[in-house]
Amino acid sequence: MKPASSGRAALTIAGSDPSGGAGIQADLKTFTVLGVYGGAVITCLTAQNSLGVRSTRPVEPDFVREQARLVLNDLPITHIKTGMIGTGAVAVAVGDILRDFEGIVVCDPVLRASGGQELLEAGGFEAFQREVVGNATFITPNVFELEHLSGLPCRNAEEVLQAGQFLLEKFANLAGVILTGGHLGGPDLPVRDYFIRRTADSKRAQPLIAEHERHRTRNTHGTGCTFSSAFTAYHLLTNDPDKSFYLAAAFMDQVIRKSAALTLGKGNGPLAHHLYRP
Ligand code: PLP
Repeated sequence: MKPASSGRAALTIAGSDPSGGAGIQADLKTFTVLGVYGGAVITCLTAQNSLGVRSTRPVEPDFVREQARLVLNDLPITHIKTGMIGTGAVAVAVGDILRDFEGIVVCDPVLRASGGQELLEAGGFEAFQREVVGNATFITPNVFELEHLSGLPCRNAEEVLQAGQFLLEKFANLAGVILTGGHLGGPDLPVRDYFIRRTADSKRAQPLIAEHERHRTRNTHGTGCTFSSAFTAYHLLTNDPDKSFYLAAAFMDQVIRKSAALTLGKGNGPLAHHLYRP
């Protein structure tokens, strides 16, 4: 795999996590350790640590637009990854940016933190779906997010596939749905991630499955952001969605395993991106 030194870069449009575990901080660390240059447009500030998100402050929508325009008019951005959007008004601003963008858009549909705090205002869900999901090439939900977006239960593989197909039918620009399966299956079962791809005949579509060991660890803060960013970085490097899915799953496996040995913070500790070795 060639490093992305030949003038291609990724941009994350996401919220800030000052504790460094999730949000734009996780996205930029992931891009960097995978050899991809990253820019970051901030949609929302949060005050949080490993014990949870205390409060959030959305950035003024026009200022989100201004940040993105200046970066996109200057840097050779081929991939945009979106994370926490925060409000419906910010979703509209992000939609304006994505509609004018001709590259690949990977949407991490951040709705709620694992501690339960809402990261998208309730009234912003419609705008989020229309403006952000509607302009995405790939979407990387966890089980909760896939259930919320599809309105369908996702208790097993069959239901996950149905919900994924439903999203592909609902959002015409989507080429694939990647379900990060950490919340699926029992505590003693391996983790399975699913890649549900758009094919000419949806009935014959077989999902790709990446299976890996389930690590016993509390240090999982930022796993959703990190997976989505890893997929984005690998897509930029390989231009191969299937390969990028397997590589991102393997990257997560290594980073989660290394993070399990760390003690950072009093709650759910962050991932140790800095310990990743290719
Ligand atoms: N804060 C920000 C800015 C995020 O984008 C996210 C998740 O995407 C979180 C917090 C929540 O992270 P987690 O649920 O992994 O703790």
